[in-house]
Amino acid sequence: MPLQLFQPTLEAARARIAAVRPAEYARSRNALDGAVTRLSPYITHGFVSLPEVLAGVATHHRLYVQHKFVFELGWREYFHHVWRHRGERILQSLREGPLPEAAYVPEMPADIRQARTGVAVIDEAVRTLYATGYLHNHARMWLASYAAHLRKVHWRAGADWMLAHLLDGDLASNHLSWQWVAGTGSDKPYLFNADNVARYAPAAWHSAGSVIDTSYEALDAIARNPWPVPAQPVGEGVEEPPLSTQPSSVAVPSAADVADRDIWLIHPWALGEPPADLPAGCLSLGWWPAGAHAARPWSGSRWAFVGARMRALATLQWHGSRQQLAQALTRARSVQTSGDGPMGALLPPMVRQRAVLRLFSEVDQPCGSFSAWWKRTTRGVERLLDLPGLAELSARGATGTGPRRVRTGPDEVPPGATPPSNKNERTAP
Ligand SMILES: Cc1cc2nc3c(=O)[nH]c(=O)nc-3n(C[C@H](O)[C@H](O)[C@H](O)COP(=O)(O)OP(=O)(O)OC[C@H]3O[C@@H](n4cnc5c(N)ncnc54)[C@H](O)[C@@H]3O)c2cc1C
Repeated sequence: MPLQLFQPTLEAARARIAAVRPAEYARSRNALDGAVTRLSPYITHGFVSLPEVLAGVATHHRLYVQHKFVFELGWREYFHHVWRHRGERILQSLREGPLPEAAYVPEMPADIRQARTGVAVIDEAVRTLYATGYLHNHARMWLASYAAHLRKVHWRAGADWMLAHLLDGDLASNHLSWQWVAGTGSDKPYLFNADNVARYAPAAWHSAGSVIDTSYEALDAIARNPWPVPAQPVGEGVEEPPLSTQPSSVAVPSAADVADRDIWLIHPWALGEPPADLPAGCLSLGWWPAGAHAARPWSGSRWAFVGARMRALATLQWHGSRQQLAQALTRARSVQTSGDGPMGALLPPMVRQRAVLRLFSEVDQPCGSFSAWWKRTTRGVERLLDLPGLAELSARGATGTGPRRVRTGPDEVPPGATPPSNKNERTAP
């Protein structure tokens, strides 16, 4: 089922880009049946970059810098900005949440994992996650909020569990979003109630009469009280899909395979088209980083999604540690890849890293909030084409979907346009 919805091909990613309707997106993004793009698995795994996405959309639609669609793409780059600056520290609470750390349990409870909490919105979300490898942003927020604030699950336990089941699992976006919901990455907990679900989700998700059918004041009091709401498991639920740390039937690194060859190294977060200027006869080598996978297992759907694209791109595939890779590559003539930041740190030093094309300008100073980052990164940017990623694509004269034909201009900014917020009236992811 997940691969029916998310074909692991560049064509599928491009078809989704062509289908984006930004005006409808801005109007309906918060609704579960709204016009969201479902591009995230392709973006996380590098099939397409954010500048390519925006260039593709802007070829067909008039857009401006403060448009909701551009703004949401900004959230992804913001989370990566935080990751670059804080590194592994994003795996710990960035600030104190509503309760001391010890008030939260270190595991996702079985009734949540099995979709039998009896709270329809939560059980539907878990079922959807397992069945599709994808969840709408609002459903992710609901699930995280229920786990952290009502059941007192430590955000890290929830984040690790969710990351494993998503096709788009991205350490920065996922773990920092969980922190945002938990109130350790924002100044207050994110809360939701049954009315909010009824407004944005289809009937099967509605949760009238359940523990979330209450006021925001009552929910805030629950979030600040160390006692979890009692579990009341119902029915048989669903089985959690098994996780695995290894790709199937892949070789270990061997120097003989690459002796005197130029190598284009492909890894699970760099599954885009190879650059046009690689040396003639360059070998496409796929590498599954054993250390990263051992630390963060994936569902079978994720392995199938990424594995299919890896097979389409790589002539040869290895599964091994960074050290095994480094040893085997010593006999290669040259090695290049696409990667930078924390992802690039996985790579041995002899690998030349071509930086991933970013959409927005890098902000050197670490920003503690999205709005501070957004203000800085868009300062002086009036036209879409002033965004560095689009300017770079344009300079390269890139692609049929290239920004030479981008439809843009300050006159298209609707009166009073500001960065939108989508819930509880604060600037939300
Ligand atoms: C608890 C929680 C966990 C999350 N985990 C992940 C994750 O592991 N990987 C991931 O890519 N996103 C994650 N998100 C962010 C967001 O939910 C997804 O990016 C979005 O739902 C993907 O669906 P879409 O492609 O249809 O998004 P659209 O709304 O169509 O947006 C287009 C693209 O913009 C980016 N984007 C949009 N909203 C956000 C956002 N709030 N944060 C970061 N990027 C955004 C994504 O790259 C997305 O593909 C998480 C959010 C929450 C609340």
